[in-house]
Amino acid sequence: MKVAILYIATGRYITFFKSLYESCEKYFLKNHEKTYFVFTDNDNFDYSDKENVIKVEQKHLGWPYDTLMRYDMFLKIEDKLKEYDFCYYINANCEVKKPIGEEIFPTEEQGLMATIWADHYYEAPDDHPYCRNEKSSAYIPFGEGEYYFMGGFNGGRINDFIKMSKEISLMTKEDIENDAIPEFHDQSMINKYLLNKNILVMNPNYCYPSRWKIKPFCDDIKIEIVKKHHYKYGGHAYLRGETDKKITPLKYWLNKIFKLNLK
Ligand code: UDP
Repeated sequence: MKVAILYIATGRYITFFKSLYESCEKYFLKNHEKTYFVFTDNDNFDYSDKENVIKVEQKHLGWPYDTLMRYDMFLKIEDKLKEYDFCYYINANCEVKKPIGEEIFPTEEQGLMATIWADHYYEAPDDHPYCRNEKSSAYIPFGEGEYYFMGGFNGGRINDFIKMSKEISLMTKEDIENDAIPEFHDQSMINKYLLNKNILVMNPNYCYPSRWKIKPFCDDIKIEIVKKHHYKYGGHAYLRGETDKKITPLKYWLNKIFKLNLK
């Protein structure tokens, strides 16, 4: 199968691409033809020696638009994407740890695939952090829903993915206009879009945060979310470009131990 991998790395997030690429090449859909579309503004990004990496010029929009506007970014290359059978979006700070194969291909009836967030796996749907703002197009009323999906790893058959991108793009623009951007941005949107759809549901071990201890998923991690808050990357605010100051190791540890939010 021809598989497109959609990867956004504007600003400082480009630092994660090398390990995502190398780990994907090793373990992700090994027997299929993959192309990585890297949306970045980084002038030094040069993978011209790799035939399967394509740079897509993407302005650094600033937080939260780098993630919120992702479906508009994908639609910029809609015609290219139509040359593929499947496509998958993977968050920048991810590494593939174990072989992942055709189990992530949804059937024609399912169309799409999404991954459940580990820390919401065992909770009741009314406790999921779905968007509860009635003004937002991502609004989900209490009493509805089943899974809480992550924005970090999802995909599916190309036509279904493009259809979803178009609808979420419209929903997003409406929310921006109405000043009703949902708290979890694209993640709130995808949860609304997938509500009551019979898609392929992957367990949380398919995209699982490093060092979390939620059983049984922590024992079989397929894709690991690397701790981007770490001071070796400058801290989360630095990565997102909210500040130009890197977090110090002391502040990092104080945040961790005392659950603070020092930047
Ligand atoms: N992102 C980016 N540049 C930024 C901020 C975010 O490219 O300055 C992209 C990147 O692909 C990242 C995704 O948006 O994985 C989600 O952002 P982030 O990881 O900060 O959000 P979180 O998952 O913590 O909500």
